[in-house]
Amino acid sequence: LTVGNLLTVAARRFHGRTMLRCVTTGRSFTFGEANTRVNRLANGLSSLGVRKGDCVAFLCNNRAELVETYFALAKLGAVGMPINYRLSTSEIADLLQLSEAGTLIFAPRFAAAVEGLHTGADGSDGHERSGLRCIAIGEEVPGFAQGYEELLEGSSPEEPGTVVTEEDPQYFNLTSGTTGSPKTYLLNHYNNALAGTLMAGQFDLTGTDVVLTVFPMFGRVGFGWTLAAVYSGLPNVIMDFEPRAVAAAIQDEKCTIVNLVPTMAQMLMGLDDIEARDLSSLRGIVYAGAPLPTPVHEATVRQLCPHVYEYYGMQETGVVVDIKPEEKRTHPTSVGRVSPFCEVRAVDPEGNDVPAGENGAIIVQAPTSTTGYYRNPEKSRETFRDGWIHTGDIGRFDEDGFLYITGRAKDVIVTGGQNVFATEVEDLLLRHPGVADCSVIGLADEFWGERVTAVVVAAPEAEVTEEALIEYCRQSLAGFKTPKAVLFRTDPIPRTPTGKVTKYSLLEEYAPS
Ligand code: ATP
Ligand code: MG
Repeated sequence: LTVGNLLTVAARRFHGRTMLRCVTTGRSFTFGEANTRVNRLANGLSSLGVRKGDCVAFLCNNRAELVETYFALAKLGAVGMPINYRLSTSEIADLLQLSEAGTLIFAPRFAAAVEGLHTGADGSDGHERSGLRCIAIGEEVPGFAQGYEELLEGSSPEEPGTVVTEEDPQYFNLTSGTTGSPKTYLLNHYNNALAGTLMAGQFDLTGTDVVLTVFPMFGRVGFGWTLAAVYSGLPNVIMDFEPRAVAAAIQDEKCTIVNLVPTMAQMLMGLDDIEARDLSSLRGIVYAGAPLPTPVHEATVRQLCPHVYEYYGMQETGVVVDIKPEEKRTHPTSVGRVSPFCEVRAVDPEGNDVPAGENGAIIVQAPTSTTGYYRNPEKSRETFRDGWIHTGDIGRFDEDGFLYITGRAKDVIVTGGQNVFATEVEDLLLRHPGVADCSVIGLADEFWGERVTAVVVAAPEAEVTEEALIEYCRQSLAGFKTPKAVLFRTDPIPRTPTGKVTKYSLLEEYAPS
């Protein structure tokens, strides 16, 4: 059960079938071709001195070379450090230092950022000093780097033959940074090979599917779909998320299944020509990563695809709960039931299971989980306790084992001694035609403890007032849940790259000084 083995075997089995269609670059590779390129890269890296256990970082948007790099490192037993390219130069430098990466593979659009890493504070060329070996993807190879394609050309296409076990670390992954700084941890071959295999079943992948990957592939979800597609012998269309291009790709490449965060879907549905697009090839939309607001779910069914899957999990754990379209129709606000080999419980503060229907802290076990954060004992102790992963989420099970995520414990607003879950108020506000986007937070208040406050971006040309929105909420919500104030803003609500509202930054922004 190693990631390298998954590709080696798939390449024998599905040799002439398309494995990757990269919309970003227009290049396509069959399983046989991709595997040969992966072997060449692995052997090339080995000739440069990269050994099992060494760390290789990569800075690359969604394109075939990123997939090749993951697999080449996997076959060598080298540890990947996929870097979120939206980070600043100093954050990238921190990750390189933490992972002790000696080599960095980068895509053309990051050449300037990589050069910045090399330039010493005195303006001198720090390349020699930093000792970081750089490999440039694409045709233009800057002076401080060597060429990726050249390295492939000069290297053997044979399997590298390194012995890799499923306990060997495969790559570093990071959490999304929704509640603060992202946390870094290692995933091993077993975690990832199994996650990809299970996903194929969870999302019913069959021989006629065309998988579309728009999640950034420096993260676990994006690469997980590649593993699922490779396992199933299916073509994987990969691209960076840009709504217009994504709508065109679904139509042109006849994609059948795509994983989105709700914000991505909202952007797709907001396109002026979305009605004119033929999206009928889609047989499923998979949601994950953030609460799915009911209005977005309903609009998805109407405008994009009637068959909605959802799953729940953390980057640290992988999928632990999932739901298929037929169940999603009867349980529209549930994220599903416990996934194979996982344990998920809702517990009280003493760690006892709460009865069905009651909210509890969600704790989980999963074979696809990491065992702790990297060199961060304090955060590890907080989350990895008593053999369980404490998700920080609150949720409830119904009698039939369907889980409903109520929200993050950190986001619960305690007002006048009562708990308010922001998602309930947000769902309602999003249904108002005058509201384009919103987030509900609790601001410190001497009398209430916290004051339910709605931060709202008004819909274009809508004439909506604070009083009108408060009155609108009062009609459907208990008094203590109704926002005490509505703060309008024209700037977008701050979100992580995968579309999650960073409430901590909103709280900072609106905190009474
Ligand atoms: P950080 O841990 O760095 O603050 P994060 O928790 O957002 O960031 P991820 O691991 O990407 O990082 O996200 C996991 C969280 O996302 C879960 O703990 C949960 O709060 C939320 N989440 C994931 N899937 C769903 C879902 N289907 N519905 C509601 N919330 C979800
Ligand atoms: Mg988290």
